[in-house]
Amino acid sequence: MAEPVEIAKYNLTGDQEKKEILRQYRSLLRALKSKLKPGDKELIRTAFEMAADAHKTMRRKSGEPYITHPLAVAMICVEEIGLGIRSTICALLHDTVEDTDVTLEDVEREFGSEIARIIDGLTKISNVVDANTTQQAENFKKILLTLTDDPRVILIKLADRLHNMRTLDSMKVEKQLKISSETVYVYAPLAHRMGLYNIKTEMEDLAMKYLEPEAYREIAQKLAETRRERTRFINEFIRPIKEKLEQGNFNFEIYGRPKSIHSIWNKIKKKAVSFEEVYDLFAIRIILNSPPEKEKEDCWKVYSMITDEYNPSPERLRDWLSNPKANGYEALHTTVMGPQGKWVEVQIRTKRMNEIAEKGLAAHWKYKEGSGEEGRFEQWFQQIREALNNHESNSLDFLQDFKTSFLTEEIYVYTPRGDVKMLPTGATALDFAFSVHSMVGSKCIGAKVNHKLVPIGHKLRSGDQIEIITSAKQKPTEDWLNLVVTAKAKTKIKDALKEEKRKIADEGKYLLQRKLEQLGVAFNQHNIDELVTHYKLPSPLEFYYKIAIKTIDLKDLKDFQVMGDKIVPPKPVKLEPKEEETLKSGNKKDAELIIFGESSDKIVYNLAACCKPIPGDDVFGFVTTGKGLTIHRTNCPNAAKLLANYGHRVVKTKWVKNKEISFLTVIKIKGLDDVGVVSKITNLISAELRINISAITIEAKEGVFEGNIKLFVHDKDELENLVNRLKSLPGIESVDRYDTENA
Ligand code: MN
Repeated sequence: MAEPVEIAKYNLTGDQEKKEILRQYRSLLRALKSKLKPGDKELIRTAFEMAADAHKTMRRKSGEPYITHPLAVAMICVEEIGLGIRSTICALLHDTVEDTDVTLEDVEREFGSEIARIIDGLTKISNVVDANTTQQAENFKKILLTLTDDPRVILIKLADRLHNMRTLDSMKVEKQLKISSETVYVYAPLAHRMGLYNIKTEMEDLAMKYLEPEAYREIAQKLAETRRERTRFINEFIRPIKEKLEQGNFNFEIYGRPKSIHSIWNKIKKKAVSFEEVYDLFAIRIILNSPPEKEKEDCWKVYSMITDEYNPSPERLRDWLSNPKANGYEALHTTVMGPQGKWVEVQIRTKRMNEIAEKGLAAHWKYKEGSGEEGRFEQWFQQIREALNNHESNSLDFLQDFKTSFLTEEIYVYTPRGDVKMLPTGATALDFAFSVHSMVGSKCIGAKVNHKLVPIGHKLRSGDQIEIITSAKQKPTEDWLNLVVTAKAKTKIKDALKEEKRKIADEGKYLLQRKLEQLGVAFNQHNIDELVTHYKLPSPLEFYYKIAIKTIDLKDLKDFQVMGDKIVPPKPVKLEPKEEETLKSGNKKDAELIIFGESSDKIVYNLAACCKPIPGDDVFGFVTTGKGLTIHRTNCPNAAKLLANYGHRVVKTKWVKNKEISFLTVIKIKGLDDVGVVSKITNLISAELRINISAITIEAKEGVFEGNIKLFVHDKDELENLVNRLKSLPGIESVDRYDTENA
């Protein structure tokens, strides 16, 4: 993405900048040193000069010369992803065809067709930004096609995105939100899927910094405050293991790693716990320098040494040595009981495995050569190619399907004959059936999982062995779509449903033809269109279908007028438009937000029902067709999708203090069941704090209670104060704000 800025605005001395650019260029060459073959240096120099010249009048939003960006992207490709010479050249040139006078032909002439093809792929991906929704999803499909053609495209694109995220500070807030959302929605999962754990983690942390600035700062600060304590614990934990490994003559590295800010935040949200309960979660990593033939044996030896010292939790042993993940990850994970009764995760891997864990795909290929291993990536790419070829439905659905099918963690299951199949997490017996063959899927009536009979919607787990039971009489139905997660199964079910519908509709068409004949009306396009419009249906097919299944009764046609061979439907009765629902308790007259952007006018808005924002929340405005502006919280579960797909419809919004209007919000309270707990809560809320309660439900079970309270607050401060006061009541265990309607 280029954001050209006039050069005159910046008063920097050219010499200093040139020096800095040359310094960056030299360190790039240094990083590549071991990979350089005769002639490579000259090629890289040509690419660098071509890019520097093409971008020479451009600057980044930060004011730096534009060429620093391609240089940084190239450096990420080499150092953090482990890519080589050709990718470096592509990274240097990645924005030229998109933003400058350099053409694809120029690139091809200078560097050949392989590099031109990659640059072409990168240029197509750039177009995704700022395009309208459908086009964006359409482009995303293109990216995937290019990706399966040459994965380097996506690796360089990930480096590009990472550098843009690292330098996001100088962008406008709207851009920050949009780019961050896109990053969590598409790029971080892609990085994960490519096995680039470090890049994925950094992307998520950076995105969180912009999407949830408050939570980010809070956790970052708390992590810094607790660093010392953590280090002490890690050292205490490591000491005995270190001794054992040294006695065993292992060549190794051992260290502790705190969890990322984003993953701590996820734990806090998911498990509804406090920072204090999760902050000391970290992984201990042991990296062995073992020869290839002893890798597995050594890892298990070390496992045995650790579990001699600390007690392992048997359910939390993960053996990715025997069965690596689809993204290439190999390691042995165990969780043991450490000092002070704390669970600690230990990851054991060799140097080679560690490189794969950090550099993903690129490293994987490096080691795959000559090892004879069937490429798991190849399998994955093959599945993507199939899905792309089969997919007819709209592009947005496709994007969603793609995410659930290909970007989630995978499970491994077995056929009755012991063949392994890879499916996304959440896949069901029906997904499995379709993965075997579409005929097996359409005829599936149930399955035996590990010899036990289960329904078709049964969710599978890694290691399950599945036998599909079919019946010739079985047919797919509409609700099957809710029972599958893979793109393949979805497409096949939709195809079957369409086919089935067409058959049924044929009967309806025949019935209509006869009815019109009886009425003396022609069976022609005009009359069919009249009827389809009258019944408000999207197509004649739908109309025939509704006739066949008797949702539409042809007897009703007797009320229609006949003029010549034309049929004239009666005028439809006008329905009163339904009153727009608002969550505000006060009247709707005044908007309480100021909308930034070109104007500072007050405009009409709605509050999103999905996340129920209240003043003080970090929010953004989303332009809805016909409804004006809808306000969402930036951490709304729908936000990432909206921001990523419809960035151009996002408006920066900010609250203005207003004490007259209150907003509906919901809190969830958990605690010990105790006589009078309800009156203590309501007393605090309504009598002491004078907050209006709209509804309250409390359920008690086995000594604990869970309550939901709907109440009206003026802003976030008031809500926070209330939450803190409630927490300090005796017996209250947790108080949380509802994130969504159906949380
Ligand atoms: Mn770029």
